[in-house]
Amino acid sequence: MKILVAVKRVVDYNVKVRVKADGSGVDLANVKMAMNPFCEIAVEEAVRLKEKGIASEIVAVSVGPAAAQEQLRTALALGADRAILIESDEELGSLAVAKLLKAVVDKEQSQLVILGKQAIDSDNNQTGQMLGALTGYAQGTFASKVEIAGDQINVTREIDGGLQTVALKLPAIVTTDLRLNEPRYASLPNIMKAKKKPLETLTPDALGVSTASTVKTLKVEAPATRSAGIIVKSVAELVEKLKNEAKVI
Ligand code: AMP
Repeated sequence: MKILVAVKRVVDYNVKVRVKADGSGVDLANVKMAMNPFCEIAVEEAVRLKEKGIASEIVAVSVGPAAAQEQLRTALALGADRAILIESDEELGSLAVAKLLKAVVDKEQSQLVILGKQAIDSDNNQTGQMLGALTGYAQGTFASKVEIAGDQINVTREIDGGLQTVALKLPAIVTTDLRLNEPRYASLPNIMKAKKKPLETLTPDALGVSTASTVKTLKVEAPATRSAGIIVKSVAELVEKLKNEAKVI
């Protein structure tokens, strides 16, 4: 079984992002970029399926600027066999990304597509679902466990206050939740080997996909700064402040 893994280049989760002064977006100048954490979990799951002898090939795919090759090389170092970069310098919406991924699914005829549940930059949580609609494949979102038996895949989903297990008939789409697995680190020899693995570059035009957007970001704002806390001397003072100042009791 061939697995396609979608990998997005995002601002590293350790970076404290700064909103641009004009509110048009986030300042990306000299900011450390990394693979989206949920995509790392997606790569790890694909690698585990290959180690179990269930997957025969793992193809990592990213849509983004030429620099996204770095994240694809990381996926290759973690165990993907080859990579595809769909190069675009535009800021693409989820639907455009899903259409591009659909074109790759058609080209590669992969049986399973694993995506993160969410990209930590735009927090969209919709690319996997849109790809599900475009391909007509079964989908299991927010996966915390994945088991494959023949042409069926059982996905345990994290839902509010519990778990739900669904059976999907392959081909299918899975989006990863945090508890699915703990991604490994790439070893130095594997980082070196990854440099020689194939990385193909395509363009939206070559795939015949229009990336015109129907959504425009109007404004980006940083969260309101929190005022400093105070230390109260007694429970009575706390109750008095909650009642008369915060007015929450
Ligand atoms: P989102 O719907 O934007 O929150 O992203 C959910 C998942 O879709 C990500 O974790 C990736 O697996 C995939 N994805 C989103 N954007 C891209 C992209 N530009 N390139 C590759 N995969 C992407």
